[in-house]
Amino acid sequence: MTGPGGRTLVVCDLDRTLIYSAAAMGPDPPAVRCVERYQGADASFMTVDAVDLLRALQQRCEFVPTTTRTREQYARITLAGSPARYAIVANGGHLLHNGVSDVDWNRGVLARLADCAPLAEAVEHLDSPAHAPWLRRQRVAEDLFCYAIVERELLAPDILAELQAWYAERGWVLSMQGRKLYCVPHPLTKSAAAAEVARRTGAGVVLAAGDSLLDADLLEYADIAVRPSHGELELIGWTRPGLLVTEAAGIAGGEELLRLLLARTDTYLSART
Ligand SMILES: [Mg+2]
Repeated sequence: MTGPGGRTLVVCDLDRTLIYSAAAMGPDPPAVRCVERYQGADASFMTVDAVDLLRALQQRCEFVPTTTRTREQYARITLAGSPARYAIVANGGHLLHNGVSDVDWNRGVLARLADCAPLAEAVEHLDSPAHAPWLRRQRVAEDLFCYAIVERELLAPDILAELQAWYAERGWVLSMQGRKLYCVPHPLTKSAAAAEVARRTGAGVVLAAGDSLLDADLLEYADIAVRPSHGELELIGWTRPGLLVTEAAGIAGGEELLRLLLARTDTYLSART
């Protein structure tokens, strides 16, 4: 997977792993700093200490923001330190290098999507009149996948399970994150893009962090994986050998996760010298 002696790569999910909306922070959050403004308001935050930890991590490793957000949604975020050299957005559909999407990478991803049901079919099913009671809005993201804003209390678990089965038969994955229900084609993964960044940077070891089902492949791929004790993976008790799980949940869990990642880079740096 990765070569010995190379630089440490940290591929880190953003929402509810590194950055948190007010609703996702949890009770009694420590002092926070805004990292995203949206429609004139502060939208996402990190703890003040997490900002410093991230800066330290960026100095030691190749830190790669990794998200299901579209390029436009990702552009609203300003993390600490210098802009990331690489970023994985649209769940791996776009690989940004110095802020510019790699056209060849995107073309290769589109070719791999030919193996599952087309986006139009996924969108049409989500839009079904039967879903009207719980479906508020639906969006297509980057012409790659779709998501819906839903009323959680009106979306019964058996309906969600039925939907999951319908999409799985067609090679699509569902992920419920807060009020957003994502429908993503199976070959569109963060891990494929992470492997490409590892190849290009000659990474020696890959560390990953994430909280949702769409991060499971990334956590599986990495040499060292960390997840917070909240979110979709926590709900299903997802694990893998050597998985690190934070004690704290919410935005404090995000800070703890950075401490865990930093401690692991220390281990690797000292092992190499
Ligand atoms: Mg997340």
